[in-house]
Amino acid sequence: MEWETVIGLEIHAQLATQSKIFSAAATAYGALPNTQACFVDLGMPGVLPVLNRQAVVMAIKFGLAIDAEISPRSVFARKNYFYPDLPKGYQISQYELPVVGKGEVIVDLDQGESKRIGVTRAHLEEDAGKSLHEDFHGMSGIDLNRAGTPLLEIVSEPDMRSAKEAIAYMKKIHSIVRYLEICDGNMQEGSFRCDANVSVRPKGQVKFGTRTELKNLNSFRFVERAINLEVARQIELIEEGGKVIQETRLYDADKNETRSMRSKEEANDYRYFPDPDLLPLDIDTQQIEAVRATLPELPDQKRQRFIEQYALSNYDAGVLTSSKVLAAYYESVVSIVKDAKLSANWVMGELLGALNKAGLNIEQSPVDASHFAQLLQRIVDKTISGKIAKQVFEHMWTDNKTADQIIQEQALVQITDTRAIESIIDEVIRNNPKQLEQYRSGKDKLFGFFVGQVMKATKGKANPQTVNQLLKQKL
Ligand code: ADP
Ligand code: MG
Repeated sequence: MEWETVIGLEIHAQLATQSKIFSAAATAYGALPNTQACFVDLGMPGVLPVLNRQAVVMAIKFGLAIDAEISPRSVFARKNYFYPDLPKGYQISQYELPVVGKGEVIVDLDQGESKRIGVTRAHLEEDAGKSLHEDFHGMSGIDLNRAGTPLLEIVSEPDMRSAKEAIAYMKKIHSIVRYLEICDGNMQEGSFRCDANVSVRPKGQVKFGTRTELKNLNSFRFVERAINLEVARQIELIEEGGKVIQETRLYDADKNETRSMRSKEEANDYRYFPDPDLLPLDIDTQQIEAVRATLPELPDQKRQRFIEQYALSNYDAGVLTSSKVLAAYYESVVSIVKDAKLSANWVMGELLGALNKAGLNIEQSPVDASHFAQLLQRIVDKTISGKIAKQVFEHMWTDNKTADQIIQEQALVQITDTRAIESIIDEVIRNNPKQLEQYRSGKDKLFGFFVGQVMKATKGKANPQTVNQLLKQKL
């Protein structure tokens, strides 16, 4: 039997406001426990929440970026449950009337294919505090710094058909919230996390299978692994005559397994009701248009522009616009080097390769755009060959020196002087009479041998085109 996977994601993006969603306490990450929680966050009786305007502006930005309807009226609701890190006994969220309605994003799949993924809704809510289980013997600590931090929960349609598609979608949303600067996207710090709903059905069946919800996924790699594990588990279960039960499962990255947390029967009944302390949120057209006027160029638009302006392939433009900072880096390199294709190859090849290897992102690059551009200029003006440039780049990366400094210090300037190259070629030919004879009697492959000898003699500094040309004549 052939099976089809169905996935829907619920992404939580922490909004990059200065203060909390219903109080004036700071949201900065990493402060000492309980130093950034005020009476509102502590759930003291008698205090009143006041909605943070910036959080609303950010939600509107997101809605506009995914072509969604912004609700003229949305309502905050209480989601009631008990947990030590939730002192109020309820979380303020939006339930029946979310601020952002149906929207969509286009995601890139392999082989240049793309797919539309529907977004069902996005709503504003507050985060809970954190329970700390380490450092306390036989007890748990409670840190309420995170209580009241604004979140945008983005719920997708069950439109994805593989872990790969789910990752592509998640990356697209990640890119959009970072372009909009409404979320820092830091997954290690939990600013961007997701729950994955997963089910399987026999290929061709219209009705969805029973789903499970995977919690605790805070890296793209974990999302992919957890989904694939869960799909395999469900298929095996059904094929053995069992039934998937609707439940919440936890992904354990250390053991690389998912296990049951609670079934539907044990699920909480949250008794949602409109929060009487908060008025409905009314947003008029003027407010929406004011926000629209502040929207930056978005990933899809930038990609299209890169294709047209720099004659890049769809793939290259997609990689270079995946983050706004990377796109800006590329554009400043091109503005200096003037060769769009060469710049794209080097940014995507050497630069991203080195960053990847070092586990750094573009913001942390030890080589900035102007220095990187200088290196490429030396290729363009033929001071060095591309091959030598790779060596120079390695030194720039570790030694914090400019390309020109390294080229000078290590005497790497390319030999373009025809006479100098000619005399080296003569010598190489003199020293290899056997190979010369074989070459002349038809062993064409030996041409590469002679090129190699000349390059060796010049420590790679001879201009490759000149070497090729002269060698052909001389041989
Ligand atoms: P809940 O309110 O219980 O979280 P929702 O209906 O809001 O349930 O769905 C939550 C997420 O689960 C959505 O992203 C949705 O696309 C996804 N989903 C719903 N049904 C299925 C299914 N059968 N298989 C996979 N995902 C599903
Ligand atoms: Mg859910």
